[in-house]
Amino acid sequence: MRIEIIRCLRDNYSYLIIDENNINACVVDPGESTPIVKFIENNNIKLKYILNTHHHYDHIGGNLELKKRYNSKIVAFEGDKDRIPEIDIFVHDNQTWKADSFEAKIFHTPGHTSGHILFHFFNEKKIFTGDTLFSLGCGRIFEGTSEQMFNSLCKIKKLPKETEIYCGHEYTLQNSNFCIQHDPENLILKKKIINIKKKLENNLPTIPTILGEEIDSNIFLKANNIETFSKLRDLKDNF
Ligand code: ZN
Ligand code: FE
Repeated sequence: MRIEIIRCLRDNYSYLIIDENNINACVVDPGESTPIVKFIENNNIKLKYILNTHHHYDHIGGNLELKKRYNSKIVAFEGDKDRIPEIDIFVHDNQTWKADSFEAKIFHTPGHTSGHILFHFFNEKKIFTGDTLFSLGCGRIFEGTSEQMFNSLCKIKKLPKETEIYCGHEYTLQNSNFCIQHDPENLILKKKIINIKKKLENNLPTIPTILGEEIDSNIFLKANNIETFSKLRDLKDNF
């Protein structure tokens, strides 16, 4: 299983999960179709599934064009059936979704939106976190409470430390400025920032990031109670 990172729109990431044995693929959160189509045509892969973490347009904008072109199936949260058009396969919290050689556990993680889900490809130790968890940050709370978002992040924290995190946006540098302001002595964070800058200077994504590293450097994962978390989230909204 190989992951290709595809840049979409201004700062979104979409991902192709490719089974190298049979060229079947899933796409996660195609914000637009053009860059995905380009990759598929150049690499001769079969787009079988479209996985959506949530209903925001920058994550589903390419859905219908891709579905039409490749006859792919849209996989999304059952609770979002009225706001993600043309879902083919409905999934729910704690379900293991399995199709062809793809196998992922679904986590319902309300907070950013009420229907947000994560896809955890546990065999490969990779998780697609949409706008719930970013590198050195977390999503804005649009539809939920800070308590919900805190609990959603706690679900991620319980996964194996070596899990690779693939999130929905390239917000890492911006997020690092907030983290270092609130955690100025953190050596792991400082080292990570040097690394982030190097990658961005070379026009490389800062993604994936590793869960263990995030737990040590992401101020929102370091928060160990709702009050601290909620205060940080408020501060970040006005940062
Ligand atoms: Zn969003
Ligand atoms: Fe987004």
